[in-house]
Amino acid sequence: MRLSYSALDTYRTCPLKYKFQEIDKIRTPKSKEAVFGTTIHSTMKFIHKPGILFPNLEQAMEFFSNAWNPAVFDSSEEERSAFSQGIKILENYYQKNNPADANIIDLESRFQITIGHAKPAASDRALQPETHIVSGIIDRIDKTPDGYEIIDYKTTRKMPTQEKVDQDIQLSIYLKAFLSRYPKEIANLDKITVSLYYLKHGVKLSSRRTPEQLQKSEDLFLDIIQLIESEKFAPNLSPLCDWCGYQNLCPMWKHKFKESRKIDSQTVNQAINEYIELKSAINITKDRLEKIQEEILRYMDQEGVSRVFGENGLIAQTLRKTYKYDEKRIREILEPLDKWENVLKVDGIALRNILAVLPLEAKEALDKAKIVDKETRGLTIKKGKNND
Ligand code: SF4
Repeated sequence: MRLSYSALDTYRTCPLKYKFQEIDKIRTPKSKEAVFGTTIHSTMKFIHKPGILFPNLEQAMEFFSNAWNPAVFDSSEEERSAFSQGIKILENYYQKNNPADANIIDLESRFQITIGHAKPAASDRALQPETHIVSGIIDRIDKTPDGYEIIDYKTTRKMPTQEKVDQDIQLSIYLKAFLSRYPKEIANLDKITVSLYYLKHGVKLSSRRTPEQLQKSEDLFLDIIQLIESEKFAPNLSPLCDWCGYQNLCPMWKHKFKESRKIDSQTVNQAINEYIELKSAINITKDRLEKIQEEILRYMDQEGVSRVFGENGLIAQTLRKTYKYDEKRIREILEPLDKWENVLKVDGIALRNILAVLPLEAKEALDKAKIVDKETRGLTIKKGKNND
């Protein structure tokens, strides 16, 4: 399979978006965020392009203004705010960096590498090659006093944790691409830095890789390719949906777009409204029931009675006990009877509770170990007009 790093990244964000973009080849206009990112990237290239004199801040701002495309913004306020954000990025960059100090060996460096390995075929013992071609563009490669630095510029607001940068698959793939061009540098892996430069914050997050980490990233990459090949393209709702150009085709959103509805029946609209109203009524009733129950129980305690009588009937107090077992004791009893294995089962809630504190790698391994047991369709509500 041939794919670009950015396509793989799209799959990780949302498999359905990947399908629309890479398989169905449905083109959408570039989002304003993407246009902003491209303009900043081309300005960074202009700043560092080898020449006799590096451009100063004013020249960089002029380049940025000339490359600016106001047409993609929804309003002049939005456009003004984005433009001044771009100017701020450049000012901040020049405050922290002198372009003449960087020893850059390549800018916007295109690569194509082969990943994967030979695997035994099911039918015979011969090795079948299972390799894939991955392409991409590395924003910048610097020569540092003791090694190299691979830099990728980011224009997103959200910054990852250092732990995520240490396991970032994009940086590992870029490092592999660098090594395929400079194979001898594998001996100096500890001197090659990989960095994500968050331009809006003016912060560079850096990391290094061991050969084992590189291998793990490659394995993860191969796992994702396997998912793509098995044609798993479920939508993945996330805040990134706000920037997705496929909302009018996506089953999670398309109902919002009148033109894509096959049936715009009044009955469905009525059913939606009634469902929301009934659900709200249930919640109000539940809250009220809890309050009344508390009052009646308080009254029973006060009067020392277990049953109370009203005009429409009686209410009796019940006591439902839930138990938990002493695991050690249960094990001691069941193990000699060979029955312990029968009661062992993975506790999904406990697993979810520990997920947050597990390393990313373990989380991904657990995620892969999941199998669908039962699928139950339900409905959830978000109140308000045209919710997103
Ligand atoms: S709108 Fe969201 S869920 Fe739908 S395809 Fe786009 S990213 Fe995926």
